[in-house]
Amino acid sequence: MAAGRLAGFFKSLDRIIYPGKWSSRAINTLVSEHNAKWMQDSSRKSPMQLINEVPPIKVEGRIVACEGDSNPALGHPIEFICLDKKDPAICKYCGLRFVQHNHHH
Ligand SMILES: [Zn+2]
Repeated sequence: MAAGRLAGFFKSLDRIIYPGKWSSRAINTLVSEHNAKWMQDSSRKSPMQLINEVPPIKVEGRIVACEGDSNPALGHPIEFICLDKKDPAICKYCGLRFVQHNHHH
């Protein structure tokens, strides 16, 4: 488990860098507080998990302007993305994926 590795990390840190300065109890308190915060957050999905659930947006035309509509992150300028490639293009600001919708005449 990550928690076990983290605890081991702090213990080795204590032994090597701070010999005798931190009691193991203080380290355990630090680690458990960190884990409690982590556990609260783990019930929610990370932004990357959420964005990966959004299917690529089909766009007519070669260029799409992304303003981060589902994720109005601060500092998202209008990003013009070229869809010339076959693979979905990913907005570098919000992670939304766009794919060119080809008309079949
Ligand atoms: Zn975007």
